[in-house]
Amino acid sequence: MAQADIALIGLAVMGQNLILNMNDHGFVVCAYNRTVSKVHDFLQNEAKGTKVIGAESLQEMVSKLKTPRRIILLVKAGQAVDDFIDKLVPLLESGDIIIDGGNSEYRDTTRRCKSLKEKGLLFVGSGVSGGEEGARYGPSLMPGGHKEAWPHIKGIFQSIAAKVGTGEPCCDWVGDEGAGHFVKMVHNGIEYGDMQLICEAYHLMKDVLGMDHDDMGEAFDQWNKTELDSFLIEITANILKYKDADGTHLLPKIRDSAGQKGTGKWTAISALEYGVPVTLIGEAVFARCLSSLKDERVVASKSLKGPQGAKFTGNKTQFLEDIRKALYASKIISYAQGFMLLRQAAKEFGWSLNYGGIALMWRGGCIIRSVFLGKIKEAFDRDTELQNLLLDSFFSKAVQDCQDSWRRAVSTGVQLGIPLPSFTTALSFYDGYRHAMLPANLLQAQRDYFGAHTYELLSNPGQFVHTNWTGHG
Ligand code: NAP
Repeated sequence: MAQADIALIGLAVMGQNLILNMNDHGFVVCAYNRTVSKVHDFLQNEAKGTKVIGAESLQEMVSKLKTPRRIILLVKAGQAVDDFIDKLVPLLESGDIIIDGGNSEYRDTTRRCKSLKEKGLLFVGSGVSGGEEGARYGPSLMPGGHKEAWPHIKGIFQSIAAKVGTGEPCCDWVGDEGAGHFVKMVHNGIEYGDMQLICEAYHLMKDVLGMDHDDMGEAFDQWNKTELDSFLIEITANILKYKDADGTHLLPKIRDSAGQKGTGKWTAISALEYGVPVTLIGEAVFARCLSSLKDERVVASKSLKGPQGAKFTGNKTQFLEDIRKALYASKIISYAQGFMLLRQAAKEFGWSLNYGGIALMWRGGCIIRSVFLGKIKEAFDRDTELQNLLLDSFFSKAVQDCQDSWRRAVSTGVQLGIPLPSFTTALSFYDGYRHAMLPANLLQAQRDYFGAHTYELLSNPGQFVHTNWTGHG
């Protein structure tokens, strides 16, 4: 008998938690997994006493669903998604909805949208953020694909999503095709940037100011009461203060070699592909790559010298505030760049993206959740056509207010030999973006000189001319 509101395939950590979340909100969920024994385990343990039902086959699962059937896939991204889609297609009817909630590549989602449309089925690729905890108690959800599916899933999605402010859900329709997964990808890239910025602030506190871990933890606690109020600042304070069983701080004992799963890299690749200067996320990805060369760095540290005898002699309290402002200004640049990439993708693919809505989706439930995202939402509410976050009155003033501190933090760090890839690239971007005239005139001349690539004159835009640079007259 058709009794389930929705089915979910994939009983790993994300799937199980999302099912329990949907159950809490009154939806009857039918659970299925490739390894069927996991369905039984789940029903007898985590889902015991709930309204969750199970199925031993896809046929049985489909037969238990109300129409139009709604099926969420939360399986390993890639081939597993295509395999399940292929198996589901013959079992479904026109108007039924398949939702992929995994970390799929946005191009795959666009491809699947096209192929399922031809078969009369609706497909949604939804970014799901917030990890295990988010899935269980309120994730950030970023659905995109066939918009006709949205009225049928909106109720479920918005009720299980994280809520902010006066109960606004961190979930809204993102756009056509792979737009939801694209937005999720950029979210992950921004997460890389935020984390790297915090690491650079920590490096300056530790090696320029010589602060101990408890004091650094306290500083981050204080920062969490300012514009930087966010999940990542909060957990950084806790991490810094955390003590091992032996009573000493754990953090300095952790190997300084960072891993990555690839979504930051995808964002940087997209930025290169669409010609958008998303420099900060790029640097954050490269910083992880450099960190992973641990053995090489240990060898290099024995022969490559930094500035000799240089020591910080300034006012420590003031410099700590400089670091905080440098972090805030750099963060503004990172988000400005992330939204530039979204804008370019929208243009490229003909998506109509609601930028304020995206900021709201990231405002809660996910790793980059912060008060700051509320300010971004307000900026897009003020001007839905806002070209760049830096041109909004609130953010341009915020950067202006931070500017002197930002420059002091960066220049002091550079003079003392502290690597600050994200702080410095943010400042360079800001200085580049605010210059009406860059030295690319020389670059154009060089290109024309060696390759006859032609150039435009400022006085005659659109007209490309060539000069015989080695000729006379
Ligand atoms: P996962 O480890 O990525 O995937 C495990 C699930 O995929 C299991 O149900 C497994 O079935 C199934 N599976 C794997 N290969 C398969 C194949 N070839 N054919 C059919 N089924 C296959 O699980 P997860 O960590 O819960 O993540 C699920 C999705 O959400 C992923 O796309 C992940 O990237 C994304 N995501 C994860 C997080 C997170 O914090 N973990 C956060 C956001 C998004 P069996 O039990 O039969 O092996």
